[in-house]
Amino acid sequence: MFNHADFDGHERVVFCTDPDSDLKAIIAIHDTRRGPALGGCRMWPYASAELAVRDVLRLSRGMTYKAVMAGLELGGGKSVIIGDPRTGKSEALLRAMGRFVNSLDGGYIVAEDSGTCVADMKVIAAETAHVAGVSDKPALGGGTRSGDPSPSTAYGVFVGLKAAVRHRLGRYDLDGVRVAIQGTGSVGTHLARLLHGAGAELLLADLRPERAQALADELGAEAVAVDAVFDQDVDVFAPCALGAVLNDDTVKRLRAAVVAGAANNQLDHERHGEALRKRGILYAPDYVINAGGLIDVAYERSGIARDGDRLRQHIDGIAGTLSEIFVQADAEGLPTGVVADQLARHRLQRRH
Ligand code: NAD
Repeated sequence: MFNHADFDGHERVVFCTDPDSDLKAIIAIHDTRRGPALGGCRMWPYASAELAVRDVLRLSRGMTYKAVMAGLELGGGKSVIIGDPRTGKSEALLRAMGRFVNSLDGGYIVAEDSGTCVADMKVIAAETAHVAGVSDKPALGGGTRSGDPSPSTAYGVFVGLKAAVRHRLGRYDLDGVRVAIQGTGSVGTHLARLLHGAGAELLLADLRPERAQALADELGAEAVAVDAVFDQDVDVFAPCALGAVLNDDTVKRLRAAVVAGAANNQLDHERHGEALRKRGILYAPDYVINAGGLIDVAYERSGIARDGDRLRQHIDGIAGTLSEIFVQADAEGLPTGVVADQLARHRLQRRH
């Protein structure tokens, strides 16, 4: 483990098994110097334990960088449950996960991620207080919403996408801007509605085509096949499914000028950031643009979630952070992801 390519000095990696409920999970705590490690719990039928380890380590490190770039007093961590979220979930399994989280004494705070939801966090909360994303709070557009942070994640991607379009295309509005969204789950759906409201033309793809089609019908958008989403003649590609979608094959196929989406670990390898830059495609670093959900749950935990205006202002800050990265990347001729990593490491060190 210590020599694993993605280990990156993790403080703690915990392998959890509970034979009674069939739980197999990994909790990775990357860095708690700025505060407890807050990060979602992903449930996914990983083909091997090695793939789960790689995923949780990369996601966990990303949370450290995400928190520091979002100006939050939090560390970075993440957990994964190896299993199919549609068939493998049970109360016993989630409660066993809650007991493992609890055993870490607040060093790790769990929240929703792909494959888990608010109802799951409520079950986990029966075993531990170290859980976020469970309380009702004010909606950004008024009214009340559940603890699900994905509307805030989508709002952050929306303001970040606008900043990227402004920088790369010199456009101050999204009227007629064509956006292909890969993944119309929690975040992708909210993002699509925000973009539609701003006048963007949408193309939607999801592994479950009925989801993309239903949303396309609602918004007057076009549903496209999962494999065809990379080849579309669009201005923006918005990856909102899973990671590693920007790889040797897809970077060549993209026709968009901007990549701006919610998925974590979008680059299969760091070199794909350089490949995008060489092709003149502006990439909004994933952990910067998708920090809205983390800001949301951080506010929830600190008790200021009731103040919707402060939350919105904090998330609006994502646009400024991205613009700073874009300008620096242009000036230094570096990929935006490299500049974001440099800034994140600098801010972590400055703090200590
Ligand atoms: P979700 O599970 O609700 O939605 C993901 C969607 O992507 C599903 O509809 C799934 O069918 C689809 N999908 C999976 N593989 C696909 C493929 N190859 N092509 C097209 N569609 C595919 O997840 P979510 O909460 O919307 O999160 C989406 C992404 O954003 C994830 O990478 C997640 O880690 C990241 N993210 C989410 C949040 C949040 O607040 N939910 C915060 C930060 C980052």
